[in-house]
Amino acid sequence: MSQISPQQIKLSFPDGNVRDYEAGITPAEVAKSIAPSLAKAAISAQVNGAHWDLQWPIKADANISINTMKDDGPALELIRHDLAHIMARAVQALWPDTKVTIGPVRDYGWFYDFDRAEPFTPDDLGAIEAEMKKIINAREPVRTEVWSRADAIAHYEKTGEPYKVELVNRIPEDQDLRMYWHGDWQDLCRGPHLQHTGQVPADAFKLTHVAGAYWLGDSSRPMLQRIYGVAFKSRDDLKAHMHMLEEAAKRDHRKLGREMDLFHMQEEAPGQIFWHPNGWTIYATLQDYMRRKQRVGGYVEVNTPQVVNRNLWEASGHWENYRENMFIVEVDEEGAKEKTINALKPMNCPCHVQIFNHGLKSYRDLPLRMAEFGSCARYEPSGALHGIMR
Ligand SMILES: [Zn+2]
Repeated sequence: MSQISPQQIKLSFPDGNVRDYEAGITPAEVAKSIAPSLAKAAISAQVNGAHWDLQWPIKADANISINTMKDDGPALELIRHDLAHIMARAVQALWPDTKVTIGPVRDYGWFYDFDRAEPFTPDDLGAIEAEMKKIINAREPVRTEVWSRADAIAHYEKTGEPYKVELVNRIPEDQDLRMYWHGDWQDLCRGPHLQHTGQVPADAFKLTHVAGAYWLGDSSRPMLQRIYGVAFKSRDDLKAHMHMLEEAAKRDHRKLGREMDLFHMQEEAPGQIFWHPNGWTIYATLQDYMRRKQRVGGYVEVNTPQVVNRNLWEASGHWENYRENMFIVEVDEEGAKEKTINALKPMNCPCHVQIFNHGLKSYRDLPLRMAEFGSCARYEPSGALHGIMR
Protein backbone atom coordinates (compact mmCIF):
# COMPACT_ATOMS: atom_id res chain seq x y z
CA MET A 1 0.00 0.00 0.00
CA SER A 2 1.25 3.44 -0.82
CA GLN A 3 0.39 6.77 0.73
CA ILE A 4 -1.30 9.40 -1.41
CA SER A 5 0.34 12.28 0.43
CA PRO A 6 2.23 12.51 3.70
CA GLN A 7 -0.97 13.51 5.51
CA GLN A 8 -3.14 10.72 4.16
CA ILE A 9 -3.26 7.08 5.23
CA LYS A 10 -5.31 4.11 4.04
CA LEU A 11 -7.20 2.01 6.55
CA SER A 12 -8.40 -1.44 5.48
CA PHE A 13 -11.52 -2.86 7.15
CA PRO A 14 -12.44 -6.52 7.71
CA ASP A 15 -15.13 -6.37 4.98
CA GLY A 16 -12.48 -5.47 2.38
CA ASN A 17 -13.27 -1.73 2.29
CA VAL A 18 -10.32 0.65 2.18
CA ARG A 19 -10.83 4.27 3.24
CA ASP A 20 -8.56 7.32 3.24
CA TYR A 21 -8.00 9.22 6.48
CA GLU A 22 -5.65 11.85 7.79
CA ALA A 23 -2.60 10.46 9.56
CA GLY A 24 -3.05 10.64 13.32
CA ILE A 25 -6.76 9.80 13.21
CA THR A 26 -7.97 7.84 16.23
CA PRO A 27 -10.15 4.69 16.10
CA ALA A 28 -12.85 6.68 17.93
CA GLU A 29 -12.96 9.13 14.99
CA VAL A 30 -12.85 6.26 12.50
CA ALA A 31 -15.86 4.63 14.20
CA LYS A 32 -17.71 7.96 14.11
CA SER A 33 -17.00 8.32 10.38
CA ILE A 34 -18.70 4.96 9.79
CA ALA A 35 -21.78 5.31 12.00
CA PRO A 36 -22.71 7.22 15.19
CA SER A 37 -24.07 3.96 16.64
CA LEU A 38 -20.69 2.28 16.12
CA ALA A 39 -18.93 5.23 17.79
CA LYS A 40 -21.18 4.75 20.82
CA ALA A 41 -20.76 0.96 20.97
CA ALA A 42 -17.00 1.00 20.32
CA ILE A 43 -14.75 -0.09 23.18
CA SER A 44 -11.36 -0.42 21.43
CA ALA A 45 -9.86 -1.46 18.09
CA GLN A 46 -7.50 -3.96 16.55
CA VAL A 47 -4.85 -2.12 14.53
CA ASN A 48 -2.59 -4.47 12.60
CA GLY A 49 -3.55 -7.11 15.13
CA ALA A 50 -2.60 -5.04 18.18
CA HIS A 51 -5.20 -4.14 20.80
CA TRP A 52 -5.54 -0.38 20.36
CA ASP A 53 -7.13 2.27 22.55
CA LEU A 54 -9.81 4.34 20.82
CA GLN A 55 -7.77 7.47 21.70
CA TRP A 56 -4.44 6.36 20.25
CA PRO A 57 -3.52 7.97 16.90
CA ILE A 58 -2.94 5.81 13.84
CA LYS A 59 0.05 7.21 11.96
CA ALA A 60 0.40 4.90 8.94
CA ASP A 61 -1.57 2.59 6.63
CA ALA A 62 -3.10 -0.22 8.65
CA ASN A 63 -5.69 -2.95 8.93
CA ILE A 64 -8.32 -1.92 11.43
CA SER A 65 -11.42 -3.36 13.05
CA ILE A 66 -13.53 -1.73 15.75
CA ASN A 67 -14.26 -3.81 18.87
CA THR A 68 -17.58 -3.67 20.72
CA MET A 69 -18.83 -5.53 23.80
CA LYS A 70 -19.79 -8.37 21.43
CA ASP A 71 -16.08 -9.17 20.99
CA ASP A 72 -15.49 -11.35 24.05
CA GLY A 73 -11.68 -11.31 24.19
CA PRO A 74 -11.11 -7.54 24.06
CA ALA A 75 -14.31 -6.83 26.06
CA LEU A 76 -13.31 -9.04 29.00
CA GLU A 77 -9.73 -7.80 28.95
CA LEU A 78 -10.87 -4.17 29.10
CA ILE A 79 -13.58 -4.73 31.72
CA ARG A 80 -11.06 -6.47 34.01
CA HIS A 81 -8.31 -3.96 33.33
CA ASP A 82 -10.55 -0.93 33.90
CA LEU A 83 -11.80 -2.53 37.12
CA ALA A 84 -8.21 -2.78 38.37
CA HIS A 85 -7.89 1.01 38.04
CA ILE A 86 -11.39 1.63 39.40
CA MET A 87 -10.60 -0.55 42.43
CA ALA A 88 -7.34 1.32 43.09
CA ARG A 89 -9.20 4.61 42.82
CA ALA A 90 -11.86 3.34 45.24
CA VAL A 91 -9.20 2.18 47.73
CA GLN A 92 -7.48 5.56 47.66
CA ALA A 93 -10.82 7.33 48.02
CA LEU A 94 -11.56 5.30 51.17
CA TRP A 95 -8.00 5.25 52.59
CA PRO A 96 -6.01 8.14 51.06
CA ASP A 97 -2.75 7.03 52.73
CA THR A 98 -2.64 3.83 50.70
CA LYS A 99 0.17 3.63 48.15
CA VAL A 100 -0.64 2.11 44.75
CA THR A 101 1.66 -0.24 42.82
CA ILE A 102 0.57 -2.50 39.94
CA GLY A 103 -2.67 -4.21 38.94
CA PRO A 104 -2.60 -6.67 36.06
CA VAL A 105 -5.42 -8.67 34.45
CA ARG A 106 -5.38 -12.39 35.16
CA ASP A 107 -7.65 -15.42 34.61
CA TYR A 108 -11.28 -14.36 35.15
CA GLY A 109 -10.31 -11.04 36.72
CA TRP A 110 -7.47 -8.94 38.03
CA PHE A 111 -5.52 -8.08 41.16
CA TYR A 112 -3.95 -4.88 42.46
CA ASP A 113 -1.17 -4.64 45.07
CA PHE A 114 -1.43 -1.94 47.74
CA ASP A 115 0.90 -0.70 50.45
CA ARG A 116 -1.20 0.05 53.51
CA ALA A 117 -0.26 -0.46 57.17
CA GLU A 118 -3.71 -1.79 58.18
CA PRO A 119 -4.76 -5.15 56.74
CA PHE A 120 -7.86 -5.16 54.51
CA THR A 121 -10.77 -7.04 56.09
CA PRO A 122 -13.72 -8.82 54.39
CA ASP A 123 -15.87 -5.82 55.40
CA ASP A 124 -13.40 -3.53 53.66
CA LEU A 125 -13.89 -5.52 50.44
CA GLY A 126 -17.63 -4.79 50.62
CA ALA A 127 -16.94 -1.08 51.13
CA ILE A 128 -14.52 -1.04 48.18
CA GLU A 129 -17.09 -2.78 45.94
CA ALA A 130 -19.71 -0.17 46.87
CA GLU A 131 -17.26 2.66 46.10
CA MET A 132 -16.39 1.03 42.75
CA LYS A 133 -20.08 0.90 41.80
CA LYS A 134 -20.32 4.64 42.49
CA ILE A 135 -17.39 5.29 40.14
CA ILE A 136 -18.92 3.06 37.44
CA ASN A 137 -22.34 4.70 37.74
CA ALA A 138 -20.77 8.16 37.46
CA ARG A 139 -19.78 7.16 33.87
CA GLU A 140 -16.59 9.17 34.13
CA PRO A 141 -14.45 9.58 31.02
CA VAL A 142 -11.20 7.65 30.59
CA ARG A 143 -8.42 9.79 29.11
CA THR A 144 -4.82 9.10 28.18
CA GLU A 145 -1.68 11.18 27.52
CA VAL A 146 1.95 10.43 26.75
CA TRP A 147 4.26 12.01 29.35
CA SER A 148 7.97 12.58 29.66
CA ARG A 149 9.84 10.56 32.30
CA ALA A 150 10.87 13.70 34.17
CA ASP A 151 7.26 14.94 34.41
CA ALA A 152 6.03 11.52 35.54
CA ILE A 153 8.70 11.21 38.24
CA ALA A 154 8.09 14.76 39.48
CA HIS A 155 4.36 14.06 39.58
CA TYR A 156 4.72 10.82 41.56
CA GLU A 157 7.23 12.36 43.96
CA LYS A 158 4.74 15.14 44.62
CA THR A 159 1.81 12.77 45.15
CA GLY A 160 3.91 10.46 47.34
CA GLU A 161 3.81 7.31 45.21
CA PRO A 162 7.31 5.81 45.50
CA TYR A 163 6.35 2.54 43.75
CA LYS A 164 5.23 4.48 40.70
CA VAL A 165 8.52 6.37 40.62
CA GLU A 166 10.29 3.01 40.57
CA LEU A 167 8.01 1.75 37.78
CA VAL A 168 8.64 4.87 35.67
CA ASN A 169 12.37 4.25 35.99
CA ARG A 170 11.90 0.67 34.79
CA ILE A 171 10.10 1.55 31.53
CA PRO A 172 12.51 1.13 28.58
CA GLU A 173 13.63 4.44 27.04
CA ASP A 174 12.17 3.59 23.60
CA GLN A 175 8.70 2.98 25.04
CA ASP A 176 6.00 5.66 25.39
CA LEU A 177 5.20 6.51 28.98
CA ARG A 178 1.44 6.66 29.21
CA MET A 179 -0.81 8.13 31.86
CA TYR A 180 -4.47 7.19 32.17
CA TRP A 181 -7.23 9.00 34.00
CA HIS A 182 -10.44 7.40 35.24
CA GLY A 183 -12.30 10.60 36.02
CA ASP A 184 -9.78 12.66 38.02
CA TRP A 185 -7.89 9.59 39.30
CA GLN A 186 -4.66 8.91 37.48
CA ASP A 187 -2.45 5.85 36.97
CA LEU A 188 0.61 4.91 34.99
CA CYS A 189 -0.53 2.38 32.39
CA ARG A 190 0.26 0.89 29.01
CA GLY A 191 -3.48 0.69 28.13
CA PRO A 192 -5.73 0.23 26.26
CA HIS A 193 -8.85 1.13 28.22
CA LEU A 194 -12.59 1.64 27.80
CA GLN A 195 -14.01 5.06 26.87
CA HIS A 196 -15.72 5.76 30.19
CA THR A 197 -16.23 3.93 33.49
CA GLY A 198 -19.91 3.36 32.66
CA GLN A 199 -18.90 0.80 30.02
CA VAL A 200 -17.97 -1.60 32.85
CA PRO A 201 -20.97 -3.72 33.90
CA ALA A 202 -21.68 -2.65 37.49
CA ASP A 203 -23.28 -5.96 38.54
CA ALA A 204 -20.87 -8.51 37.07
CA PHE A 205 -17.79 -8.21 39.28
CA LYS A 206 -16.80 -9.32 42.76
CA LEU A 207 -13.80 -8.84 45.01
CA THR A 208 -12.85 -12.33 46.16
CA HIS A 209 -9.96 -12.22 48.63
CA VAL A 210 -6.78 -10.54 49.92
CA ALA A 211 -3.31 -12.10 50.06
CA GLY A 212 0.20 -10.92 50.83
CA ALA A 213 2.61 -10.36 47.94
CA TYR A 214 6.13 -8.97 47.92
CA TRP A 215 6.78 -5.88 45.80
CA LEU A 216 8.13 -7.19 42.47
CA GLY A 217 8.02 -10.73 43.91
CA ASP A 218 11.21 -9.97 45.84
CA SER A 219 11.23 -11.17 49.47
CA SER A 220 13.72 -8.43 50.41
CA ARG A 221 11.18 -5.77 49.38
CA PRO A 222 8.04 -4.62 51.25
CA MET A 223 5.13 -7.01 51.74
CA LEU A 224 2.06 -5.59 50.01
CA GLN A 225 -1.61 -6.48 50.18
CA ARG A 226 -3.03 -7.97 46.99
CA ILE A 227 -6.78 -7.67 46.44
CA TYR A 228 -8.22 -10.10 43.89
CA GLY A 229 -11.36 -9.58 41.84
CA VAL A 230 -13.26 -11.45 39.16
CA ALA A 231 -15.38 -9.85 36.45
CA PHE A 232 -17.54 -10.86 33.52
CA LYS A 233 -19.81 -9.30 30.91
CA SER A 234 -23.02 -10.19 32.72
CA ARG A 235 -24.38 -10.98 36.17
CA ASP A 236 -25.30 -14.49 34.94
CA ASP A 237 -21.71 -15.16 33.85
CA LEU A 238 -20.48 -14.05 37.28
CA LYS A 239 -23.01 -16.29 39.04
CA ALA A 240 -22.00 -19.26 36.88
CA HIS A 241 -18.34 -18.64 37.77
CA MET A 242 -19.02 -18.41 41.51
CA HIS A 243 -21.06 -21.63 41.30
CA MET A 244 -18.21 -23.36 39.48
CA LEU A 245 -15.80 -22.30 42.25
CA GLU A 246 -18.12 -23.71 44.94
CA GLU A 247 -18.34 -27.02 43.08
CA ALA A 248 -14.56 -27.12 42.58
CA ALA A 249 -14.02 -26.47 46.30
CA LYS A 250 -16.14 -29.53 47.10
CA ARG A 251 -13.76 -31.56 44.91
CA ASP A 252 -10.51 -29.95 46.07
CA HIS A 253 -7.89 -32.70 45.91
CA ARG A 254 -6.54 -31.69 49.34
CA LYS A 255 -9.97 -32.31 50.85
CA LEU A 256 -10.58 -35.54 48.88
CA GLY A 257 -7.06 -36.76 49.68
CA ARG A 258 -7.82 -36.50 53.38
CA GLU A 259 -11.39 -37.78 53.28
CA MET A 260 -10.56 -40.75 51.04
CA ASP A 261 -7.22 -41.54 52.74
CA LEU A 262 -5.31 -41.13 49.45
CA PHE A 263 -2.13 -39.32 50.60
CA HIS A 264 -0.66 -37.00 53.16
CA MET A 265 2.16 -34.51 53.51
CA GLN A 266 4.21 -33.74 56.59
CA GLU A 267 6.83 -31.19 57.54
CA GLU A 268 9.72 -33.63 57.40
CA ALA A 269 9.34 -33.91 53.59
CA PRO A 270 8.42 -30.45 52.32
CA GLY A 271 6.54 -30.43 49.04
CA GLN A 272 6.58 -34.23 48.81
CA ILE A 273 3.85 -36.77 49.08
CA PHE A 274 3.31 -39.89 51.20
CA TRP A 275 1.02 -41.92 48.95
CA HIS A 276 -1.35 -44.29 50.76
CA PRO A 277 -2.50 -47.56 49.11
CA ASN A 278 -5.66 -46.21 47.46
CA GLY A 279 -3.98 -43.02 46.33
CA TRP A 280 -1.09 -44.94 44.83
CA THR A 281 -3.53 -47.22 43.00
CA ILE A 282 -5.01 -44.13 41.32
CA TYR A 283 -1.52 -42.82 40.59
CA ALA A 284 -0.40 -46.13 39.03
CA THR A 285 -3.63 -46.40 37.01
CA LEU A 286 -3.02 -42.94 35.54
CA GLN A 287 0.56 -43.90 34.80
CA ASP A 288 -0.62 -47.04 32.94
CA TYR A 289 -3.02 -44.90 30.95
CA MET A 290 -0.22 -42.46 30.04
CA ARG A 291 2.07 -45.35 29.03
CA ARG A 292 -0.57 -46.61 26.59
CA LYS A 293 -0.96 -43.11 25.12
CA GLN A 294 2.80 -42.65 24.86
CA ARG A 295 3.25 -45.97 23.05
CA VAL A 296 0.60 -44.98 20.51
CA GLY A 297 2.35 -41.61 20.11
CA GLY A 298 5.68 -43.30 19.29
CA TYR A 299 7.48 -42.49 22.57
CA VAL A 300 10.08 -44.72 24.22
CA GLU A 301 10.25 -44.70 27.99
CA VAL A 302 13.56 -44.05 29.76
CA ASN A 303 14.72 -43.35 33.29
CA THR A 304 17.59 -41.06 34.36
CA PRO A 305 19.51 -40.24 37.56
CA GLN A 306 18.14 -38.17 40.40
CA VAL A 307 21.39 -36.54 41.57
CA VAL A 308 23.52 -35.04 38.82
CA ASN A 309 26.82 -33.15 38.89
CA ARG A 310 26.93 -29.38 38.58
CA ASN A 311 28.83 -29.66 35.25
CA LEU A 312 25.74 -30.89 33.48
CA TRP A 313 23.56 -28.11 34.88
CA GLU A 314 26.16 -25.57 33.81
CA ALA A 315 26.07 -26.97 30.28
CA SER A 316 22.26 -26.89 30.21
CA GLY A 317 22.11 -23.30 31.53
CA HIS A 318 20.12 -24.28 34.63
CA TRP A 319 23.01 -23.38 36.94
CA GLU A 320 23.22 -19.86 35.56
CA ASN A 321 19.50 -19.13 35.31
CA TYR A 322 17.83 -21.31 37.85
CA ARG A 323 20.38 -22.03 40.55
CA GLU A 324 18.30 -20.54 43.42
CA ASN A 325 15.47 -22.99 42.64
CA MET A 326 17.67 -26.11 42.75
CA PHE A 327 18.41 -28.45 45.65
CA ILE A 328 22.17 -28.49 45.94
CA VAL A 329 23.82 -31.64 47.27
CA GLU A 330 27.44 -31.17 48.38
CA VAL A 331 29.49 -34.32 48.79
CA ASP A 332 32.81 -34.60 50.70
CA GLU A 333 34.78 -37.27 48.91
CA GLU A 334 37.64 -38.77 50.78
CA GLY A 335 41.01 -37.49 49.60
CA ALA A 336 39.46 -34.84 47.35
CA LYS A 337 40.56 -31.23 47.85
CA GLU A 338 37.17 -29.76 47.13
CA LYS A 339 33.61 -30.81 47.69
CA THR A 340 31.75 -32.29 44.75
CA ILE A 341 28.71 -30.18 43.95
CA ASN A 342 25.64 -32.02 42.69
CA ALA A 343 22.02 -31.02 42.36
CA LEU A 344 18.74 -32.90 42.47
CA LYS A 345 17.39 -32.72 38.96
CA PRO A 346 14.92 -29.88 38.53
CA MET A 347 14.17 -30.90 34.92
CA ASN A 348 14.42 -34.13 32.94
CA CYS A 349 15.53 -32.97 29.51
CA PRO A 350 19.28 -32.42 30.14
CA CYS A 351 19.47 -36.09 31.14
CA HIS A 352 17.64 -37.12 27.98
CA VAL A 353 20.23 -35.21 25.98
CA GLN A 354 22.83 -37.52 27.58
CA ILE A 355 20.96 -40.55 26.27
CA PHE A 356 20.82 -39.00 22.83
CA ASN A 357 24.56 -38.24 22.97
CA HIS A 358 25.36 -41.83 23.82
CA GLY A 359 26.50 -43.63 20.67
CA LEU A 360 26.02 -42.59 17.07
CA LYS A 361 22.65 -41.45 15.86
CA SER A 362 21.46 -41.41 12.29
CA TYR A 363 18.88 -39.12 10.77
CA ARG A 364 16.90 -42.34 10.33
CA ASP A 365 16.47 -42.44 14.11
CA LEU A 366 14.63 -39.13 14.02
CA PRO A 367 12.29 -38.00 15.32
CA LEU A 368 13.27 -39.48 18.66
CA ARG A 369 10.56 -39.27 21.29
CA MET A 370 11.58 -39.98 24.87
CA ALA A 371 9.31 -40.02 27.87
CA GLU A 372 10.15 -40.33 31.56
CA PHE A 373 8.14 -40.57 34.73
CA GLY A 374 10.85 -38.51 36.31
CA SER A 375 10.77 -36.86 39.71
CA CYS A 376 11.90 -33.28 39.48
CA ALA A 377 12.86 -31.49 42.68
CA ARG A 378 12.61 -27.73 42.96
CA TYR A 379 13.54 -25.53 45.84
CA GLU A 380 10.54 -23.26 45.97
CA PRO A 381 8.70 -21.35 48.67
CA SER A 382 5.81 -23.46 49.99
CA GLY A 383 3.49 -20.74 48.61
CA ALA A 384 4.31 -21.99 45.10
CA LEU A 385 2.63 -25.29 45.97
CA HIS A 386 -1.11 -25.95 46.06
CA GLY A 387 -1.47 -29.34 47.75
CA ILE A 388 0.19 -31.77 45.35
CA MET A 389 0.10 -29.32 42.44
CA ARG A 390 2.51 -26.57 41.69
ZN1 LIG B 1 -4.50 0.38 32.82
